[in-house]
Amino acid sequence: MTGATGTGADVLAASAGSLRERFEAAFMPNYGVPPVVPVRGEGCHLWDADGRRYLDLIAGIAVSSLGHAHPALVEAVSRQVATLAHTSNLFVNEPEVLLAERLLGLLKAPGRVFLANSGTEANECALKLAISYGRNTGRKYFVAAENSFHGRTLGALSLTGKASIRDQFGPFPADVRFVPYGDADALKQAVTPDCAAVFLEPTQGEAGVVPPPDGYFTAVREICDATGALLVLDEIQSAIGRTGHWFAHQHDGVVPDVLTLAKGLGGGMPVGACVGFGNAGTMFAKGDHGSTFGGNPVAAAAARAVLDTIERDGLLEHVRTVGKLLADGIAAIDHPLVSGVRGRGLWLAVVLTADRAADVQAAAQRAGFLVNAVQPDAVRIAPPLVITAEQVETFLAAFPAILAEVTP
Ligand SMILES: *Cc1c(COP(=O)(O)O)cnc(C)c1O
Repeated sequence: MTGATGTGADVLAASAGSLRERFEAAFMPNYGVPPVVPVRGEGCHLWDADGRRYLDLIAGIAVSSLGHAHPALVEAVSRQVATLAHTSNLFVNEPEVLLAERLLGLLKAPGRVFLANSGTEANECALKLAISYGRNTGRKYFVAAENSFHGRTLGALSLTGKASIRDQFGPFPADVRFVPYGDADALKQAVTPDCAAVFLEPTQGEAGVVPPPDGYFTAVREICDATGALLVLDEIQSAIGRTGHWFAHQHDGVVPDVLTLAKGLGGGMPVGACVGFGNAGTMFAKGDHGSTFGGNPVAAAAARAVLDTIERDGLLEHVRTVGKLLADGIAAIDHPLVSGVRGRGLWLAVVLTADRAADVQAAAQRAGFLVNAVQPDAVRIAPPLVITAEQVETFLAAFPAILAEVTP
């Protein structure tokens, strides 16, 4: 096995160490070098290039909703790629139509869909809708939350309230004002009739799976209704069963004007969606937006397989049951490094009493479990929605020893 010009067969034979070195040499340094090199997955397990097995408790950042190599996803993608892989937006394809209709059916409200390839692109669409709305109504600015994450492209980044990833790329195209997340009074102060839209996550994912206080979204909806600002909910991480409901906003009984989706929707195939409800769905004029790959038939077929499987296998209820098992099990651990657990369904953070999340992630990896240090003091757990109670118990049984390895 030699050199950076290896064939596919060479890559499969390469060791994890050599692939990490070649990654470092061939890629831009924006990611650093990730620690694990998975080469194969099945269900909730991954195997790395050295043959080690891991229980996957992060699912490619809440993406692999059906786990790895799920037969329904394999069948849908294989069949579609062998039938028609791509059309572009110059043509209509049936899988994209079926997916858009399916999403609207799940949302139970009249709306229109735009299909994209990623989360940040779904949010670009939402921001362009909000800009169009602002232009039509004389509204000039936007409101988003501190510590929010909406994506890395410049429109979505302008809505992202995290200085460390944002400040070096300003100034931004949109005037965005940031308020503390979960503070309804601060939002009320910030949203005037000049505000075009409010962008929020139902629970802040990258901030460390931080839910808002009870009643927050009822107040948010009232503030938007009173001022005429659009409410845009970024459900890129929270939707498609992650919290035990199709959409996290269904917990709060609040309907947004615009909704964005991605991550878990394609179960590992790249697909994003922006849904506009009521008038927000028909705001674009012909030519206002587009994507060559958006609505790609293979990605759309994958998303439908994900939605069908969640429904057929009763995964929403399953997520609530095993999510509770996992959260209760973590809460019951008596260890000085653990201060508690937050989140809903299979979207949890173990909150630490010190900034040791990276060490917990590393110790878990050595023990055969993949978790994510989402914040210095928070470990994110977002396994495939198909994780079994037995697999959850395996992790809970191992977790005290993992924590014991992290010296205070
Ligand atoms: C991941 C994420 C995004 C960005 O999605 P990409 O597919 O990485 O562009 C946007 N918003 C939220 C809430 C996310 O979790």
